[in-house]
Amino acid sequence: MICLGIESTAHTLGIGIVNEKGKVLANEKSNFTTEKGGIHPSKAAQHHVLMYQFVLDRALKTAKIKPKDIDIVAFAQGPGLGACLRVGAVAARSLASLLKVPLIGVNHCIAHIEIGKLTSGFKDPITLYVSGANTQILALASGRYRVFGETLDIGVGNFIDVIGRSMGMGFPAGPTIDKLAKKGKNYIELPYTIKGMDFAFSGIQTKINQLVQTGKHKTEDLCFSAQETVFAELTEATERAIAHINKNEILLTGGVAANSRLQEMLKIMSKERGVKFAVVPMALAGDNGAMIAWQGILEQKANYKMKDTAINQHWRTDDVDVTWL
Ligand code: AMP
Ligand code: MG
Repeated sequence: MICLGIESTAHTLGIGIVNEKGKVLANEKSNFTTEKGGIHPSKAAQHHVLMYQFVLDRALKTAKIKPKDIDIVAFAQGPGLGACLRVGAVAARSLASLLKVPLIGVNHCIAHIEIGKLTSGFKDPITLYVSGANTQILALASGRYRVFGETLDIGVGNFIDVIGRSMGMGFPAGPTIDKLAKKGKNYIELPYTIKGMDFAFSGIQTKINQLVQTGKHKTEDLCFSAQETVFAELTEATERAIAHINKNEILLTGGVAANSRLQEMLKIMSKERGVKFAVVPMALAGDNGAMIAWQGILEQKANYKMKDTAINQHWRTDDVDVTWL
């Protein structure tokens, strides 16, 4: 069984091809980036339309398959930016009807979790899912991925991109901030906003923007202080989750999982607690089509039948019945 998955929830148009054993045959993508400023949804959607044929052809070529070899088409049905989601949905519907194969709309956040489970071999982890728009601590309980802690305002990736923008960086700012933070030496006091198991980043963001405007601080020190603060919050809440829920694996997934300092903090905490820790591989950390294809395989195996192909911009992780485990 071969599934082609289409990802288009935000900045990335990704097309992945995965077989029923979880082998990634292709994972092609084109990212919408900027030299200055953030992402405008309609411009990102336009990028996806323009790049679709190119990325599709490349994926088929890399996987060494013909369209007729595809058994299922999956797409990210939500959550995400409406304009971007619609591009993937239209493409997936047309492809599935042309090939006369089942169409499966999957939840993007759940695909980030399941691809991490596939690559780590973890069966029942606590997942810290950190991306541009989402930041959640999740674990399976009573048939759903329940949210044990989450951002009360913006995603941590979005926080990183916005403070990067105020320091003159383009989108995405994450990799640049990761590098600069290593050269930071002075910790600048920032608000530490953790409320129970939840966290909030917009106040810290405002504070950093104000500090940038004073012109008194080195960019390296600001990047270092920002990372130390928000990643400590994420590590603290994840540690509390693992202390309360009886699990022994911690999985880090999503685009911000690529961050070296966040990985380091979680590794130390996991070691101290005596639990296993794994990070999703770089190629599967940020948004990608392979994770959508793998989720399609899992749901097809569980006999999922799609009723409504409309996109769902605000689809929550804990709204999905986990029927495939
Ligand atoms: P996603 O939405 O899952 O594709 O994740 C994209 C987000 O990951 C963007 O906000 C990026 O800035 C962020 N990101 C990518 N690499 C890094 C990194 N090394 N450190 C921190 N954030 C990163
Ligand atoms: Mg994502």
